[in-house]
Amino acid sequence: MKYSSTRNTGDSNRLTLDEALLRGIAEDGGLFLPDVLPTFSLDEFSNSKSIRDTARTLLTPFFSGSSLAGMIDEIIAATFGFPIPVSKLDVDDADAWMLELYHGPTAAFKDVGAGFLAACLSRLNSAAESPLTILVATSGDTGGAVAAAFDGKPNIRVVVLFPDGRVSERQQKQLTCWGDNILSLAIKGSFDDCQSTVKAALAEPALRDNYRFSSANSINIGRLLPQSTYYAHASLMHFRATGRKPGFIIPVGNLGNSLACILARDMGLPIGDIVLASNANRLIPDYLRGADWIPRASIQTLASAMDVGNPSNMERLRHMHGDADDLNKIISAVTVSDAQIEQQIVQDQQQLGFATCPHTATATYAYHHLQPEQKKNDWILVATAHPAKFDSIVEPLIGEAVPVPEELNRILSRPSRFTVIEPGLDALSAALLENFPVDAR
Ligand SMILES: *Cc1c(COP(=O)(O)O)cnc(C)c1O
Repeated sequence: MKYSSTRNTGDSNRLTLDEALLRGIAEDGGLFLPDVLPTFSLDEFSNSKSIRDTARTLLTPFFSGSSLAGMIDEIIAATFGFPIPVSKLDVDDADAWMLELYHGPTAAFKDVGAGFLAACLSRLNSAAESPLTILVATSGDTGGAVAAAFDGKPNIRVVVLFPDGRVSERQQKQLTCWGDNILSLAIKGSFDDCQSTVKAALAEPALRDNYRFSSANSINIGRLLPQSTYYAHASLMHFRATGRKPGFIIPVGNLGNSLACILARDMGLPIGDIVLASNANRLIPDYLRGADWIPRASIQTLASAMDVGNPSNMERLRHMHGDADDLNKIISAVTVSDAQIEQQIVQDQQQLGFATCPHTATATYAYHHLQPEQKKNDWILVATAHPAKFDSIVEPLIGEAVPVPEELNRILSRPSRFTVIEPGLDALSAALLENFPVDAR
């Protein structure tokens, strides 16, 4: 299997999975996609009992030609080390289920992609003489998942840059409670300052050579591929039990999680309609209704991990499926305001017996506002994070404490360690040299 950029499919630019994982983004600025998407018949999954079984069948073709091909089982075991259950929802007017993606170390679905990427990169670099240094700018959720996934991995370091004072208390803990190979930096500035500091470091040749920078942000193909697994497995189990293809309703930000579902359906999995639930950053719903694709500044909302003004995976989706007219045949999208998110969290607590996180609430809102015809189908709502991660939003709305899952509790009880620095290359290089001296490598 070869991978090419969305911007250049010329033969000379076709890479192996290993190269695509290490580079993260193509030199021409495009995103990597497999040259051909494998397709499957349902028979190929007939022995699939666990999500790991499904992952092995689904992901094997993507490893062909990779030095990791013999290690698929280990990589899958490391990625899917926590449960990803589908639970029936107690809604009286129809059949709906919830795909619970929040049982991983940092209680959000990004643990799956980050875990897979860490499992792959650590194996790719295990024989190298010098460590890889992974730079991550985060507005909150991504950095925690990446740090958790790479914590203690030999020969790899992670530098997390987050905006000082602008992440929730629990998010900050998840960014700062790790071992010696994770350096957490609170930047005196905004998320954009964190991002531009990372970009400046990646473009500085001396630093780049000394530290062997790599990135783990959500455009890395290694974050995308494993996410198709839970859609494949949930749809297979549903289809086996009922004979019906479930639709999925997915909270959308950078479009990675939704694209993984579209890919699973493209590969032949029994998936019905796909509905994207957006917050007030409504570029995708507007585009599907005829607006031009013009990236916008992001708007701050209660569903902060979805505050994306320029969803980068749209480049992949358009490359594969065309522009708005074609996309309207395969997906639909709705916009959910902060006021609607708040009402929905309260309603979910009353109707379902538990609170949803602000991101997941966009999906439950979208479900309740489906056309009556559509609603007759079977739907799986995608829960992207645990509400306890967003206690400061959820608890005042429902008037009670959200129980904290055990895994999250363990993290919250660990000590924090981070350094506050100014934005910009100078302060970052100083922090790098102090914490990871070049000679000591
Ligand atoms: C990242 C994130 C999203 C958005 O997912 P994308 O893949 O960026 O579309 C939704 N909910 C939560 C909790 C997230 O962390």
